[in-house]
Amino acid sequence: MVRMNPRTGLVDVGRLDGNAAAGVLSGLFRVDLTAAVVACRRCGERGPFAEVVAELDPDGLIVLCRGCRHTLLTYVHGPGGASLSLDGLGAIELPATE
Ligand SMILES: [Zn+2]
Repeated sequence: MVRMNPRTGLVDVGRLDGNAAAGVLSGLFRVDLTAAVVACRRCGERGPFAEVVAELDPDGLIVLCRGCRHTLLTYVHGPGGASLSLDGLGAIELPATE
């Protein structure tokens, strides 16, 4: 998923949909995020988390708004712990559970 571009020396990160991000974040939220609806604080777009744009690398992930590409959340983890920022999220709406 993570590749170094031999010409530029830059790291290409894999860009996936929200299903991949939901798997990484499942240990934090303890719910199935693919069923959640998220709203962007910047442009107001609402939609299923499964349809966001996710950039994953070995240190964590960045979730981007599908509409405006603004960062919705970032998650970084390492040996010293983890950090989650939800600055770009206007809301996370979860379905009712039984
Ligand atoms: Zn947006």
